[in-house]
Amino acid sequence: MLCIFCLKDRPPSEEHVFPEAIGGILTIDRVCLTCNNLLNERADRGLIQYPTVKVLRAQKGIPDKRGNTLDPFSDIFGTGTIIDDERTGQRVVARLDPLTNKRTLKLIPHRTEKVGPDGSKEFEYKIDAGDEDKIPLIIQRERKRLGRPELSPSALDDAVSKVLARSRRVIENPLVYHQMALRFTDPRRGILKIAYELAWYWLGDDYLDDEGAQQLRQVILSNEPIDDPRLPKIRGITSAGEVVPGLVLWNHVPNVHLGLMKHFKNQVGVGIRVFQALSAVVGVSEESARYGRLGERNFLGSFMKLDPVSRTFTESSLSDAVLDLCSDSRTRRA
Ligand SMILES: [Zn+2]
Repeated sequence: MLCIFCLKDRPPSEEHVFPEAIGGILTIDRVCLTCNNLLNERADRGLIQYPTVKVLRAQKGIPDKRGNTLDPFSDIFGTGTIIDDERTGQRVVARLDPLTNKRTLKLIPHRTEKVGPDGSKEFEYKIDAGDEDKIPLIIQRERKRLGRPELSPSALDDAVSKVLARSRRVIENPLVYHQMALRFTDPRRGILKIAYELAWYWLGDDYLDDEGAQQLRQVILSNEPIDDPRLPKIRGITSAGEVVPGLVLWNHVPNVHLGLMKHFKNQVGVGIRVFQALSAVVGVSEESARYGRLGERNFLGSFMKLDPVSRTFTESSLSDAVLDLCSDSRTRRA
């Protein structure tokens, strides 16, 4: 097959137009494996790691390529610190228990070293009660560090029971302080990739030698920062805040991904919405006359909706999609 990115004849691979990690069930088979891997790294990653997208991925429990879902506590908030009377500053990892849907806490093992007045050394470990089975390992490791021989099984048992006899603290309803550091990745390349693939999806192979297509490929595959002045300027807007005009009609349909294509005079634009976190209108062509059938087949453009939770995909003409909205609003009023 002819790869729509490198334009070489290569074996196909499965490419998700909207990344798999956001539940993008629409796939195409016209991207080679080399380009597919490059797209994951340069385009998709910035989009799926974008903080508000990440929060929605976690909230909706959408599995990634490996079938893993994000944990809102450990993957987004990271580790926390228990705030207690003793102000020990003990670090904890918070996770969501998938069975009970409740937060669980686990102490991160903490080792301190004290040197007594006589020069003797003492180690103190704080570990989670759930990690008790690791005590024998810890004892043997510390002995090794000090150049002492390993304990025999019975001596080790004695040592473990001594440790277990020591103090335990139970903290009821611990208050945990989380410091959240958001790293704002740039989702724009990921958005442009979706726009390019949708343009090809709707316009067909004729699109591949459109000047707009050439420019998009250059920007999407480049390793340079997206603002690099040597890269072509792509017309359009991307918003991580308010939904861009043209897609606001669907504001009452949350949590789905949208794609649409519309032409106006010689311009062809593709609109994209990822959940409601990101939206964009991208100018994909300034040669709409090349696509006679654009006017014939879907007089009012093209539209698709992907529901990442129910994993459904619907496609229609843009005019039908707008009509659907009108009947929706009639139903809601009734
Ligand atoms: Zn390729």
